[in-house]
Amino acid sequence: MKILVLNSGSSSLKFQLFKKADLSVLASGLIEQIGDAKSAAQLSFFDSSGVEQELKQNAPVVDHREAIKVMADMLRASGTLVDTEELAGIGHRVVHGGESFHQPVRIDENVISAIEELIPLAPLHNPANLMGIRVTMEHVGPTPQVAVFDTAFHQSIPEHAYLYALPYSLYEKKKVRRYGFHGTSHAYVARQAALYLDRPVEELNIITLHLGNGASAAAIRGGKCIDTSMGMTPLEGLVMGTRSGDLDPAILFYLSRESGLDIDALDTLLNKESGLKGICGENDMRTISQAAEQGDHQAKLALTIFCYRLRKYIGAYMAALGGVDCIVFTGGIGENSAIVRQLSCQGMERLGLCLDGKKNSIRQKEILEIQAGDSQVSLLVIPTDEEHEIASQTLQVIDEMNVS
Ligand code: AMP
Repeated sequence: MKILVLNSGSSSLKFQLFKKADLSVLASGLIEQIGDAKSAAQLSFFDSSGVEQELKQNAPVVDHREAIKVMADMLRASGTLVDTEELAGIGHRVVHGGESFHQPVRIDENVISAIEELIPLAPLHNPANLMGIRVTMEHVGPTPQVAVFDTAFHQSIPEHAYLYALPYSLYEKKKVRRYGFHGTSHAYVARQAALYLDRPVEELNIITLHLGNGASAAAIRGGKCIDTSMGMTPLEGLVMGTRSGDLDPAILFYLSRESGLDIDALDTLLNKESGLKGICGENDMRTISQAAEQGDHQAKLALTIFCYRLRKYIGAYMAALGGVDCIVFTGGIGENSAIVRQLSCQGMERLGLCLDGKKNSIRQKEILEIQAGDSQVSLLVIPTDEEHEIASQTLQVIDEMNVS
């Protein structure tokens, strides 16, 4: 039997097919620019002799309904999923589970309504996730479908860390609070870290740093998240590719009064034109690092600001946890950028955090240990795998269903 994982975005559909027995990957695909004449679909898979193959399709995919059909056709053509009866379950990534979902759940009409009710909290993401769920339900009938929420891992954050210092009624009436995101990634790498260190996760204080185009940090005590840097929306916290992260909220009033920017313009400014891009005009960390190395002042500044914010969060979370055993770097930047890891740990030796420059420059796909011999804190680079985590949580829900 097999497990299919779907990540349905507003104009894309990512999918991965796993073997249920060991959660090994059988196929993974991406359909991009849905609704556009330039849409393209690709699938990589392992054939019956275990050789990796690729399928491509460039015909326009008009909507998510057609995208699901294209996915099914490609999986069938690859021989990895000939009949939907081979599916033990389907796991869907859902961005916002609000306060309703602390763990993955089997999808039914009530769950769909609850995800719908949360649309105001994630107006771009939840509708796209729901579209994937609805269309798949029509296609596969009774196959169990499971929703895995980006926010669920952070639901263990205590009240004093998730509440903003705003009138309490805004929390009661409008649910204004910290939710946090990237939960499946933080949960996955924290568990991998404990396995790697060969220690029960219950004994460990871990800081996980998911550094991609979107970036967030999480403080995890005994396997439970106690704080995270993203807030009510993914805008808060670390400096990101195009998002500002933390800033003085009064800047918005100032810009509104002085520059006449309206709400939508401010939203675009903070979400799409700020962060690394705002400082140096570029949001790709590879380009920024190269330019910084060649002496470009703005690129150097962007890199320094990015790493300084990161260092402040590491320090804050060491305080929140009362000491840390392990720090994990993950995401496109965390896994690949030695300079970001080096700068974000710089000057923290007195806090027991010592990075080994040589180990840090090694590139490998497996878990990499980069602390120096005298470091009191383990520093690990762990490739994240959100799809695997969704498959694993889906399987857990299916197994629990079969027991009860
Ligand atoms: P993600 O959102 O996790 O896919 O990560 C995207 C970010 O990872 C982009 O800023 C990329 O520039 C960055 N990235 C990917 N590969 C590298 C690399 N080799 N060195 C530095 N940054 C990288």
